[in-house]
Formats: sequence, C-alpha cells, structure tokens
Amino acid sequence: MALVNMRDMLYHAYQNNYAVGAFDLVSLDFLEAVMETAEKCRAPVILSIAEPHFAHYDYELMLPAVEAAARRASVPVAIQLDHGHSLESATRAINLGCNSIMLDASNRNLPENIQLTRDVVEMAHGCGVPVIGELGYVAGVEGQGAEQHPGESAFTVPAEAKVYVERTGVDGLAVSIGTVQGRMKGRAKLDFQRLKQLNQAVNIPLVIHGGSGLNEDQFRRLTSLGVAKINYFTALSDIAAKTMRAQIKQNPNGSFIELKAGVKEAIGHEVERCLRLWGSAGRAAEVLTQCEPWAPVEQLAVYNVERISDQQSHAVMEQGRQLLATIPGVREVFAGEALKEDSKFRFCWRVRFCHRAAIDSYREHPHFIEFNNTLFRPVVGDQISINYQDSRNTFLLPLAGSAKTAGATTVLNTPESPANRYTNLIGL
Ligand SMILES: [Zn+2]
Repeated sequence: MALVNMRDMLYHAYQNNYAVGAFDLVSLDFLEAVMETAEKCRAPVILSIAEPHFAHYDYELMLPAVEAAARRASVPVAIQLDHGHSLESATRAINLGCNSIMLDASNRNLPENIQLTRDVVEMAHGCGVPVIGELGYVAGVEGQGAEQHPGESAFTVPAEAKVYVERTGVDGLAVSIGTVQGRMKGRAKLDFQRLKQLNQAVNIPLVIHGGSGLNEDQFRRLTSLGVAKINYFTALSDIAAKTMRAQIKQNPNGSFIELKAGVKEAIGHEVERCLRLWGSAGRAAEVLTQCEPWAPVEQLAVYNVERISDQQSHAVMEQGRQLLATIPGVREVFAGEALKEDSKFRFCWRVRFCHRAAIDSYREHPHFIEFNNTLFRPVVGDQISINYQDSRNTFLLPLAGSAKTAGATTVLNTPESPANRYTNLIGL
C-alpha cells in the first residue's frame, strides 16, 4: 500500500540531488519488471502510461493492473499519465487511477501552452493530483528511431520557463536541453549551462524526457542541476525486442511464451542500472516518511425516497450514475437498492474519490449541482451521509481534522470538526 503523492516524491529527489525513474509501460512484462526491480533496489518509482501508446493497448484494462501493483508495493509508487494532450484525457486518466499528470502542450505556442496547462492544473489540483508541464520541444516519439521524426527540437528558454511556471502553477517542469525522444544515432549533446539557468529561474523539480542513450556522466550532471525525474522507455523497448530476436534465432518455431522468455529479466536489468545510476536506489524508506500517502475517500449515503415510484427512483439512480461519474476525481459511482424490502433505508449511494481534495471540487461541479437540485433533493426522504478514508494508508502522516478510531479513519460529522466541510454532500 505505498501509492503516494508524486509531488512529495519529486521534491525529496530535488532536494537530495537524485532522480526518480518514470518508466512507460506497454505490457504486463514491463509492469512486473519495473515493480520487481524497484522492490529489489528499494527505490521510489513512477509507473507511467503514455497517451501516444494508447493506440497499442487498452489503457482502461492496463490501469487496474498498474494500480494493483502500486497498492501492493512496499516502496513508494506514483502512477502517471505521460504526454497527456488534453483536459479531457487528463480528467479521464485521473478517474481511472492516475495520481499524477504529465501534460504535454509543448507543440503549441507559449500563450496556448500556458492556457491549456493552467486549465489542467486547475482541474487536477482540485483532485489533489500534481501536474508536470513541458516547455520547449523535445523532438521524436518514444520507442522509435529519431530519424523517423526529424522535427527540430526547441530548447527551453529560462525567462519563458519562469513565466510559464508562475502562470500555470505546475509542480514540475519537463525541459528541452538537447535530449531526443526515442533512439538517436550518436550521443546527445546536452546544454548544461541552460539547465542551470532553468533551475535557478523556476526553482521546482525538473524533468528530462529522452533519457535513453545518455551516459553516466551526463546523468550525474543532470541530477546535480535540478533534474528530479527521468522519463525512460526507448532503451527498455529496444532491450525487450533484442531479447525476443535472440530467442527467435535460437528457437525459430517457439511459441509466444517461449519467445518472450527472458524479456522481463532483461528489462529488469536495465531498470536496475538506471535506478542505481540516478541515485534513487536505497531511498524508499526515507521517501516514504516524506510523502503523503495516497488514500481514496468514499462518500456513503443511505436514504429513502418520497413521492416517487420504484421505477422513478431507478431512473434517478441511472441519471446520477451518468452525471456524477464524469466529474474530475470521481473513481466510481455505485447506486444500489437494499436486498431486503423492509430495510430501514431502501437506497444507497457510494461515490469513491481519488483523494479527499476531490470532494470539494465535486460539490461545486455543475453536474453535481444539477443532479442534486433537480433530481435528488426533490425526492429524498430520511438519509444518512458520511465520508470515509481508506485506513490502510494511515501508516504515515496523521491527517489534519480527522479522528482516528481503531483501524479506521473516519471523518466525523460534527459542527466543530474542520472536516465537516467534507460531509453532507448528497442533498443534506
Ligand atoms: Zn517523453
């Protein structure tokens, strides 16, 4: 249960001159290799799914596996949408389980980049989710040869970066200083002087995309100049493919399972090399003490209805499900009916939020207001509503304004409680 807030994770790295690896996952082999290696090396890690890869796998199926891996981990883990391109895709990713967003509007001009990034930051921060922005253009596509995408990289300008960070409120900044997404011929020349100026200008964790192919000395200089996160995929993809080619050569008639033998181990070796090189290996315990645990919150309401038939109450539930599920930060909407007809309360709503912060923005969202004012409030009778936080994650920081009971953290519905603002959200 070591899903944590990525912002805290990155600031620890930033302040201690090392970088956390963000590895794009394209199959379970990648996920298992990265997690097993992070556990072995006791390293914090970012499990990343990249929007440009969504054409190659069903990310709605992948994310539950990624989340399950993060929740059973003993090292600190964050789940990132990588290269998100729109407010809609960022919202969808949060509702499906990503607890950090890398928004890439770097192909737009500065004012448009600022506008879109600011919109995403506003939405994501309303859900408690940190955002990495990108300024300057890193050419290329993850996992492909750089010569296939010959567009000019545009290096990040420190004065623009300062304006961008101030106006958007991003938690970290991906910069362009000479790396290329994907595979390149020869060694990238990095502009370390520019990186130093960028770090001084923005004073927040910096991120490098296109980390594949850099040498040890280059990585060391990056982490000493403010780079706290390195996105890494192409080298892993190449190693996986090379391993399969070797298997095919040895065993031309092998089955799929035989041909992918050794792929996970090969990816794991490269991930281990990175975690040690970037200085994140061995940091898990101290990072865990510095990070907010990522604890989902649930709102539970049981109620009766007045003046409407059972059929009409089912229609209200169906419309509610549709309206509420699209609100940023809502992970799941469960609307149910008691199994026993003589139950004291006949109906139930259970809404799961990604983070306690999401409850406030939920209450202000037009979909919630519409549902509550026009559908729910006019028909609701007796009801009880309460918010709960997942207690499995209370291994670290005490939560302000909450009351702990044995084994559970309950947000109490008392007028004095600062947490009272989180209660009474469904029509009370
Ligand atoms: Zn990238």
